[in-house]
Amino acid sequence: MKRGEFLKTIITALPATLGVMKLNALNTILENWGNTPKMPVLFLGHGSPMNGVEENEFVQGFRKVSSEIETPKAIVVISAHWQTKGTQVTAMENPRTIHDFNGFPKELYEIQYHAPGLPQLAKEIKSVVTSTVVSLDEKWGLDHGAWTVIRHMYPKADIPVVQLSLDYYKNPLEHFELAKQLYQLRSKGILIVGSGNLVHNLGMVNWQKLNENFGYDWAIEANEKMKQFILDGNHQALINYSKQGKAFDLSIPTPEHYLPLIYSLALRDKKDELRIFNDEPIAGSLTMTSVKIG
Ligand code: ZN
Repeated sequence: MKRGEFLKTIITALPATLGVMKLNALNTILENWGNTPKMPVLFLGHGSPMNGVEENEFVQGFRKVSSEIETPKAIVVISAHWQTKGTQVTAMENPRTIHDFNGFPKELYEIQYHAPGLPQLAKEIKSVVTSTVVSLDEKWGLDHGAWTVIRHMYPKADIPVVQLSLDYYKNPLEHFELAKQLYQLRSKGILIVGSGNLVHNLGMVNWQKLNENFGYDWAIEANEKMKQFILDGNHQALINYSKQGKAFDLSIPTPEHYLPLIYSLALRDKKDELRIFNDEPIAGSLTMTSVKIG
């Protein structure tokens, strides 16, 4: 073979070789992690950041639900507190603990939750989601929507946690369709957690009843309707939350705490059992209602 032809052979062969290498690297976890019984999916009402340090009925609920689940190999959290332009996934080795709140006691700011990240899983999430481009993020970490609940469930912080952001340009149906594409992760020992609140109107919080299990009539009404839609599998009604009347409008003044529910429900299998827990209103305009799917 002449030198020119040899070089030409090498160059034309290169992209194919790189393509195969890339594919192998991309599929390490989903191909090489053995299949597990299907993991449940959670929606957790996280409420006040103080749940990160307090001992109360809600954190007991988080602990109890984790005791009912096989120890996951990794956790993916969709938190109300990470909204971005475009969908992003955390891809760093060691996500920082983000104290994304103001005016809380010092002890809350001192908490560090040192769960590792899992960059390979982030890359594979990017590859399994085809309805949109998922960007790898190196800057975020674990916001309080993630760590204030996960630390009660897995206090040793020895399970990798990856966060998937909420793209504020997507509509509820687009979020639902995106989330569906994560379904195969359930069979790889990966726990997917939506973290928000079904009813969440900070502007109408009753500051005199901050720690009381009290809900305004509209909050109770919306919460009951949401639960019924969840139990009935009426995802369409939940996706179309903006058409459900005044109680829903007051309960979802902005969508970020509600949308993580849409992610969790999108991953539901028809055979999955449902368990609703922490089903309490608090401070008038919030509900802590949480759902275990499967
Ligand atoms: Zn929140």
